[in-house]
Amino acid sequence: MNNTVDVREVGLRDGLQLVKTVLSTATKLDWIQQQVNCGFTNIEVTSFLPPVVIPQFADAPDVLAGSLKIPSLHAAVLVPNLKWGLTALDHGAQKINFVLSVSEAHNKANVRRSTDQSLAEFQQLVTERNHRGLKNSVEMAVSLATTFGCSLQGVVEERQVLNVAEQVLTNGIEEINMADTVGYGNPIQVKRIFRDILSIAGDTPVAAHFHDTRGMGLANVVAAVEAGVRRFDASLGGLGGCPFAKGASGNIATEDCVYLLENLGLATSINIDTLLATRKCLDGWLPNEPLEGKLLKAGQARTFSKV
Ligand code: ZN
Repeated sequence: MNNTVDVREVGLRDGLQLVKTVLSTATKLDWIQQQVNCGFTNIEVTSFLPPVVIPQFADAPDVLAGSLKIPSLHAAVLVPNLKWGLTALDHGAQKINFVLSVSEAHNKANVRRSTDQSLAEFQQLVTERNHRGLKNSVEMAVSLATTFGCSLQGVVEERQVLNVAEQVLTNGIEEINMADTVGYGNPIQVKRIFRDILSIAGDTPVAAHFHDTRGMGLANVVAAVEAGVRRFDASLGGLGGCPFAKGASGNIATEDCVYLLENLGLATSINIDTLLATRKCLDGWLPNEPLEGKLLKAGQARTFSKV
């Protein structure tokens, strides 16, 4: 089994989307550059969506433009629909992550469409990417939100998850990302669903996106690793949340996730000392935000060594 793993920073998107303090474009680019210096090559740098919905991302074109100047960085953006996906294509995003929820109720609340409407728009976006001759230069990914349960709808049937996954996989895409948007997943369920998804994904890479809302985040990472997943989203300092999940804490903390994966014998190519220094900078950039993460408080174990 492959012993390298890719941790992708999503703090600048998922992490910042509920934060009231609007970071300057320069600070965001400083953050991005620092994580590149740590060894990150895949970062979700911003989200293209109406600025009135989330003012934090009003500078999305500028953040993306600055990110595109950083060598060795593959800059991803999240989009909620076809219109903003086309805008991201226009601005030269290297990877477009299209979010749709398996839960009908969550999709309606989040992007005001039925899941089928979102699926159709995603298909149109992939077609448009291909028409523009960008199939080999712009990656198309889809994030299936509420894969492991929904705070609005409750249970999300696993056959519905597989049904939606099968539909998106027919489009010829570069990644399918299974997201526990509201922190309902548990390790047994996570292992089962990822095994099923990996069995139908063929050559399409499969990624995992966990929130640590109920303390299951890192346990779910272990379960996904055991199922064969080698791509994980994480957010520096565990920043983040979901507007439709009350009390939702953020994503799994990047620094803790990297440390865990290295302890599992998987090579992340991340410099943990540099990452913890960047994590300290985040305290300064967002002094009023509660941040999570154990590793910064405790430091690395004396017995720990990187893969
Ligand atoms: Zn998320």
